[in-house]
Amino acid sequence: MTLHPVCKTCRKPKATFACALCQADICKNCTQFLTENSFAFLKTIPEELSHSTYCSNCFDDKVSGPLNEYNDTMEKAKEVIIYSKVQTKLTRYLKRKAEPYSVDNCEDESEALLRMSFFAVQANFNALIDVELKNRKLTAGSHKKTIWSATAVPVTIDPKEIRGHEDPP
Ligand SMILES: [Zn+2]
Ligand SMILES: [Zn+2]
Repeated sequence: MTLHPVCKTCRKPKATFACALCQADICKNCTQFLTENSFAFLKTIPEELSHSTYCSNCFDDKVSGPLNEYNDTMEKAKEVIIYSKVQTKLTRYLKRKAEPYSVDNCEDESEALLRMSFFAVQANFNALIDVELKNRKLTAGSHKKTIWSATAVPVTIDPKEIRGHEDPP
């Protein structure tokens, strides 16, 4: 049986990982893992949030706060109200003050919408209007792939107000 370094947290000689921030040896059970997707929608991911293994101290100090905030923003992004470019009947009276968002290289329409919604929530908007989605085909070797891009204008609207303008289903 191979002995590994002693884990900083549980003191068992089972440390096969290292904390990316303090470099302490840690065992699998005591390691907090982040995936590539943990902060994927941030425009720029801070260096200290860009690693995959953390000891519990560093995770609590540096990562858990931003991670909770990120997940909160993601939940709110799913609630953002979306109106497409063709729904001008509903949105024509809204003032477009903010610079439009644009995203590219998205896997599908819902990723494109969610990415823009995420930016909207970060900037305290609750709706995206004038949404336009486009796709194009990419060929990489024998592999064909559809890539989505989108634009939208972020606004703040009163959901009650917009409901009054909606056509009956
Ligand atoms: Zn441990
Ligand atoms: Zn650490």
